[in-house]
Amino acid sequence: MVPDNSASEKGQPSIGQAALFGLCPSCGARTLFSGWVRFAPKCRVCGLDLSQFNVGDGPAAFLILIVGAIVVGLAAWLQVAIAPPFWVHMILWLPLSTLLVIIGLRAAKAALILAEYRNRAGEARQGPEHGPGYGQDKQR
Ligand SMILES: [Zn+2]
Repeated sequence: MVPDNSASEKGQPSIGQAALFGLCPSCGARTLFSGWVRFAPKCRVCGLDLSQFNVGDGPAAFLILIVGAIVVGLAAWLQVAIAPPFWVHMILWLPLSTLLVIIGLRAAKAALILAEYRNRAGEARQGPEHGPGYGQDKQR
């Protein structure tokens, strides 16, 4: 048996699993998202209040840059390789961009909320004066 350090506490998913499937950081159920990229207000299984986490739209800006670079690169390659009519570009890259952004956003937000959840759990153990760590220092 290889010890799995990525799942440090019982029931908690690893970052990779959480990012892939949108898992609750506390119990590992697939309850993190209520829409395509929107968090549910709280976990339907364990009741963890997800609205307290302030992941924000930080990942979105990065993703748009990354997805944009990928799509523009592919489109330029396709144009040079076979020079298709313009509508081919439209039906290829619009859905592909949308899909990449949705997948990327879900993964990034799930990973961030899990990381933040673990940080808070660590802070809360250090002493009562820290409180549950509502992240005032993390406000952007
Ligand atoms: Zn849960």
